[in-house]
Amino acid sequence: MKFREMDTEDIEAALETSMQEGLREDEARKRQQKQGFNELQEGEKQSALLLFFAQFKDFMVLVLLAATLISGLLGEYIDSIAIMAIILINGFLGFFQERKAEKSLDALKEMAAPQVHALRDEKWAKIPSREVVVGDVLKFTSGDRIGADLRIMESSSLEIEESALTGESVPAVKFAHPVQHDVDGIGDEQNMAFMGTMVTRGSGIGIVTATGMDTAMGKIADMLQSAEAMATPLQRRLEQLGKILIITALLLTLLVVVIGVIQGNDLYTMFLAGVSLAVAAIPEGLPAIVTVALSLGVQRMIKQKSIVRKLPAVETLGCASVICSDKTGTMTQNKMTVTHLWSGGKTWNVTGTGYVPSGSFMSDNTDVNPKQEKSLHQLLTFGMLCNNSELVDHEGQYVLDGDPTEGALLVAAMKAGLTREVLKQKFTIVKEFPFDSTRKMMSVVAKDENGKQFVVTKGAPDVLISQCETILWHGQSQSMNRDLKKAVQDAIDGLADQALRTIAVGFKPIGAATVLLDEREAEKGLTFIGMHGMIDPPRPEVHNAVKECREAGIKTVMITGDHVSTAKAIAKQLGILRGKDKVLEGKTLSDMSVGELEEVVEDVSVFARVSPEHKLKIVKALQNKGHVVAMTGDGVNDAPAIKAADIGISMGITGTDVAKEASSLILLDDNFATIKSAIKEGRNIYENIRKFIRYLLASNVGEILVMFFAMIMALPLPLVPIQILWVNLVTDGLPAMALGLDKPEGDVMKRGPRSPKEGVFARGLGWKIISRGFLIGISTLIAFIVVYKTNPDNLQYAQTVAFATLVLAQLIHVFDCRSEKSIFSRNPFGNQYLVWAVISSLALMLVVLYYPPLQTIFHTVAIQPRDWLLIVGMASIPTFLLAGSFLVSKSK
Ligand code: ATP
Repeated sequence: MKFREMDTEDIEAALETSMQEGLREDEARKRQQKQGFNELQEGEKQSALLLFFAQFKDFMVLVLLAATLISGLLGEYIDSIAIMAIILINGFLGFFQERKAEKSLDALKEMAAPQVHALRDEKWAKIPSREVVVGDVLKFTSGDRIGADLRIMESSSLEIEESALTGESVPAVKFAHPVQHDVDGIGDEQNMAFMGTMVTRGSGIGIVTATGMDTAMGKIADMLQSAEAMATPLQRRLEQLGKILIITALLLTLLVVVIGVIQGNDLYTMFLAGVSLAVAAIPEGLPAIVTVALSLGVQRMIKQKSIVRKLPAVETLGCASVICSDKTGTMTQNKMTVTHLWSGGKTWNVTGTGYVPSGSFMSDNTDVNPKQEKSLHQLLTFGMLCNNSELVDHEGQYVLDGDPTEGALLVAAMKAGLTREVLKQKFTIVKEFPFDSTRKMMSVVAKDENGKQFVVTKGAPDVLISQCETILWHGQSQSMNRDLKKAVQDAIDGLADQALRTIAVGFKPIGAATVLLDEREAEKGLTFIGMHGMIDPPRPEVHNAVKECREAGIKTVMITGDHVSTAKAIAKQLGILRGKDKVLEGKTLSDMSVGELEEVVEDVSVFARVSPEHKLKIVKALQNKGHVVAMTGDGVNDAPAIKAADIGISMGITGTDVAKEASSLILLDDNFATIKSAIKEGRNIYENIRKFIRYLLASNVGEILVMFFAMIMALPLPLVPIQILWVNLVTDGLPAMALGLDKPEGDVMKRGPRSPKEGVFARGLGWKIISRGFLIGISTLIAFIVVYKTNPDNLQYAQTVAFATLVLAQLIHVFDCRSEKSIFSRNPFGNQYLVWAVISSLALMLVVLYYPPLQTIFHTVAIQPRDWLLIVGMASIPTFLLAGSFLVSKSK
């Protein structure tokens, strides 16, 4: 028999599980060992060996290998072995860099892996989706991605979007009862839910019938190619730039070789020098270092509680000019406590904080017994009845399981002595119409001991009031006339002005046999019972974060479903709503076109009583105004706006799977301040990449120019091939990596956001590369000429001096690269990685210069102490000449 045809007992028996208790942990572990992990098998990964060999497939490296082979055959053993060794070490370095980047991205994937709500040992717990086994009982709700194939056992207004399997984008309505008739494909299996599909409405509970490759999704898994890693805009630009640089470097190298040969150098030496120069001048390591810098940055971001799901977002973060953020939970703590209650013109205060269910009720500063105040009692009872949250006593601490808004209502009711157990004995919930942020209401149909049925609705007061025909006033039901409506409106404003979040409760009796089909039918003709007002304190760190963002040229916009006055009050406290800033309401927004919104959008800093659908309009209007928009969201309906935003941000704790999958950044702590940290890190990563691009390219320009000018001036080669390769490996490699780990400059959050259109060489980077590179080349050449002219017989000595000057000039210049301004604008030794990289490069240089066996290999001779003065002097020029001009201009 098929699962869809079976009833609950049969399924429980067949899968040896229980809807009440779930699986036992040890049983689940046993099954997991037998069934394997609940995951789809991925395609073969590139093996380590292949990745290693991939390092040598670069065209120039192959030419170099061929050249070395020839020189080996010609008897130049030492040269060819040394060059081989250098190529090999270079290959290893590239290999390790790529592995590291790959590993950290894998770890990232794991952190963002989905979780499910499973019943194990009679308790609901969140477990990683891959640990689910057949027989597990899973709970799911709107926004969740289904973790395995399930037979649905309980459902409430459940709709699931199955387009991944059926291609049908309209969500399928699901239910829990057995289906006896034949079905035609997955789309018809209405009491089954399938792995990878998305719950778009309602909620349900199901028993897992298949996992991993046995699921419907597993059967088509071969067709689902794993998505390719996305290159960031900068990586793409660098790839194009790389091509231009290769051609330029090759042309210059060719010129150097041709001139060299014309000048009388022998063809073989010039060929090897040319190839070495080309290898050194082409920044083949650049893309790898960029990837490493990005992935290390991404790891730092994890420590600061944000997960980057899409690598390009790291760069876009630095361009963000507006952050549109939800209020509840992101700017506030989402720890709600009811402090005020209102019914029929009377107000009560409630004491107590947090979720501890003890406190007293007061009216006009005198204690009251809530059981004796009929309307108050009714308000609290209904607040508890239309409510799915639970308060769990966890080792003496009260922990809320469920929505904090509902938790607040529950705790308020408990303070009045009401309990879930007693309520359950008196009332049965027949049906539920779940809350959604567009409707801003939730309802239940309840039945009392006498079989009488009634609807309880709770929701945003200004929305609920329009569904009420009558109101409970001084214990009597009265028609909702204009005066009473006005009294309610005033009461709503009164609570909201105090920054309180408000929830109203309505009620309506229905016939004992009435079956309500949809929420529209349930939520009309109600009686207004009263309101709860609850505090939700702002997160203490948000005020400063908003300020820092403002200083960084980033505007913060609050988007909330809450009442205008509540939103205004909190936005003022947080420094978001200032001066002439405007507040726009969802109602007004609905009537506006994107074009109309564009006219005003830059002046608005609070959007209140909005629905998730409005967010897309806001993103579009801001983008049309040229802004780079970061937008947060947590629900299913937020996904389109999250996708459309330049940086889509989802909530790690309260976010649904759908929102997370649409986003490029996940906030692990749901905190607004984390967005600010991520932006700061994003800016820093980009600046660091600029730093080593500048360092590497300036070094390459220097290397090429010293050879080029020497050839033009009919001088012998200032550097031998192996020295050029050494510079490429040691002097360029380590410090560039260290620059990638640099800390941000102090003013990184004091400047405006970067333009997304900005090129690689923007903000003077191109000039810095050319000017510093030119000076490095010239000073190396001068050092070479001075020594060579004094003693033309000892070419090797002059070459050694040129080598030392080039290395030193680069190692000094690297400190200048730490700042966009000048070497003097920050402590040059503030980056300890860089200090160590430079010290080790220096030490290695000294070994090459003074250790006899290496002298043979590197064609060096020991440098006399007096010549060091010349070397240090010449090597300082490129950095200090231009930095000096900075100091002069600053002092003016
Ligand atoms: P944001 O997170 O975007 O800042 P929000 O979470 O406050 O906004 P919603 O959750 O859409 O926005 O809530 C909008 C309004 O709906 C609230 O002001 C409240 O009156 C009402 N509301 C919130 N949660 C519930 C619920 N569980 N049941 C009934 N009504 C609710």
